[in-house]
Amino acid sequence: MAYRFRNDGMRFSLGFVLAISLAGLQFIAILFVVTTSYLSSERAILDHARGLMEGVGSNAVEHTKRFLEPAGEITDQAQRVLTTGLVGTTDRETMERYFFELVQTEPQIAGVNFGDEEGNFVYVMKSDGPGPYRTKFITIENGVRHVDFIWRDENYQAVAFSNDPLDTYDARTRPWYLKASDLERRIWTNPYIFFSSQQPGITVAAPVIFERDGLQGVVGVDIEISDISGFLSDLRVSDSGAAMILGEDGSLLAHPDPNQIKVQNEDGSLSFANIGDIDDPISRAAFGNIEGPNITNLVSQSNFDYQNHEYMGLFAPLAGVDLPWTVAVYAPEDDFIGEIKANRERNIWIAAGISVLTAIVGLTIAELILRPVRAFAVRTALVSQGEVSARAPLPKTYKELSKANKTLIDEIAQRRESEAKVQELSRDLAHFSRVSVMGQMASGLAHELSQPLTAITQNVDAAISTAKEEGANNEDLLAILNDLDEQAHQGGDVVRALRGFVRKDEGEIASFNFNELIDQAKRLMRHEAEDHHVTLVYERAADPMVIGNRVQVAQVLINLIRNAIEAIAAAESKTRQVVVHAEADGKVLEVRVEDTGPGVPEGVKLFKQFQTSKEDGMGLGLSISRKIIETNGGRLWLDKTAVGKTRFCFTIPRESA
Ligand code: ADP
Repeated sequence: MAYRFRNDGMRFSLGFVLAISLAGLQFIAILFVVTTSYLSSERAILDHARGLMEGVGSNAVEHTKRFLEPAGEITDQAQRVLTTGLVGTTDRETMERYFFELVQTEPQIAGVNFGDEEGNFVYVMKSDGPGPYRTKFITIENGVRHVDFIWRDENYQAVAFSNDPLDTYDARTRPWYLKASDLERRIWTNPYIFFSSQQPGITVAAPVIFERDGLQGVVGVDIEISDISGFLSDLRVSDSGAAMILGEDGSLLAHPDPNQIKVQNEDGSLSFANIGDIDDPISRAAFGNIEGPNITNLVSQSNFDYQNHEYMGLFAPLAGVDLPWTVAVYAPEDDFIGEIKANRERNIWIAAGISVLTAIVGLTIAELILRPVRAFAVRTALVSQGEVSARAPLPKTYKELSKANKTLIDEIAQRRESEAKVQELSRDLAHFSRVSVMGQMASGLAHELSQPLTAITQNVDAAISTAKEEGANNEDLLAILNDLDEQAHQGGDVVRALRGFVRKDEGEIASFNFNELIDQAKRLMRHEAEDHHVTLVYERAADPMVIGNRVQVAQVLINLIRNAIEAIAAAESKTRQVVVHAEADGKVLEVRVEDTGPGVPEGVKLFKQFQTSKEDGMGLGLSISRKIIETNGGRLWLDKTAVGKTRFCFTIPRESA
């Protein structure tokens, strides 16, 4: 792997960071695209789903209306026929035949009947047997009541007869009769469970009123509505959505599962289940809290939660029919958007997979790209440590790195060359230093010895003359004194020759760049300064060309810097800085060496030979330096005006001056 951890704050390789960032960016981009496309497609699909549900709702409404309307029309027709006398309200045979025809017109018509104000009753209905149709007659004759039954086949042939003297049915007491005769118009009863078929149904009833004689009776048409449930179960809303019909009191009139509709009361009779009590938890959750007569006024959309699933709900009032029924539809959102949700999840996983894959590919590519860079870095480190020659063949790498390598090699070569050169200067300086110290010592000694030697020769000469004058003809003594005289003269000659020799100038006078001298001094003194924790600051001259003996002037500069460092080190000064400043001043270049040391100790006579405050000092440095500078046409002095600093200055003639 191309990444590694280090303790100094987690550092990752460039390749790792690049690969991970790219993979991360890619993941975010894919996530963004997936999410936005999910959101927009979700919106579109939910809109579509709502449309679908509305379609289902209006479909159910239409179907229910189509179911109910023929019954209404048949009732209207029967009312007209009876009212106009086309069929006499007392002609029970014709009436039976007419009702028989009507019952056959539509499959949902369960029966047609007419009850009159006297209690007579004719009722033709579909039957389970012994024939497919059964007629019930209740006839009041002279106050006596007869209840007869006739079963007929499809061709109106009587197939069975029966009567029931115990039957007490009286149409005039039924709600549909009372309501229609009371309101004097066509009415719909509340839905109820038919006693005979045990199926849910509804009755349409209309009064038969003669212009002269007033109300004759009421004609009623029974409609079975269980088929509506069958229709609803065929009506596909979604995988687990459903449509149902609710009465105004929340009773369930039609449901895809028809068994949900009926409940048995304590007395054994059947009635409609209430939506709040049925065995369908989703319907209960959707519409169960709806109660009271205002159901038709409800908003048409209602979304709800069931077991952490979002559901869409919708109400559609049964418009166009004067019945307070409502079609209610629900469907889980996931039936519509489940697939795109799953798709989104799949896409996120795919995105994550692709990101991991690209991260791995990225890491591999980054590793391949970085390998030559790393090899180059290792090689550079080895070259800088001197373990590998800069000229050794370069590993296969990039053009840019090859260029950098060339620059590096040139740099190293230059550095080596310049290092070979301070060393040369350093050797020269050391040699010169030794020579000039020796010379200075010799000159000092010669000066010191010449007087006693002169005194000796003079005294020997005097001793010889005295010995001669006093006649002491001691040949041996004279020979000794003459020998002594000769030796003393010889000694004086040697000393004088030595003085002459050391006075001879060394090196040549030439023009040179003082800044180069500063650079050399910098390299030469770096270690010494570092050893004593002293900072060296060099302020180079703007116009640095001077004339003089380069090696000698270098020695003076080194000498002053070394004195400055030693003064700081010995005094353990807090601020430890030496500033070397060079600046043209008219005909000369003035050089200042300033230190933050304690200053020249009292009692030390500067520029005098053998004046030193140091244990291992010779006290020759400053006197030699002054002599050198003066020989080179300049001056060397201690600048006493410097405040808080020790500042030695010297000048050298400038080339251009
Ligand atoms: P040496 O360094 O051998 O003592 P020098 O002639 O170079 O001989 O210096 C003579 C003396 O002058 C030193 O011993 C020291 O006391 C004093 N001196 C020279 N330079 C400085 C300086 N920068 N600060 C303080 N004293 C100095």
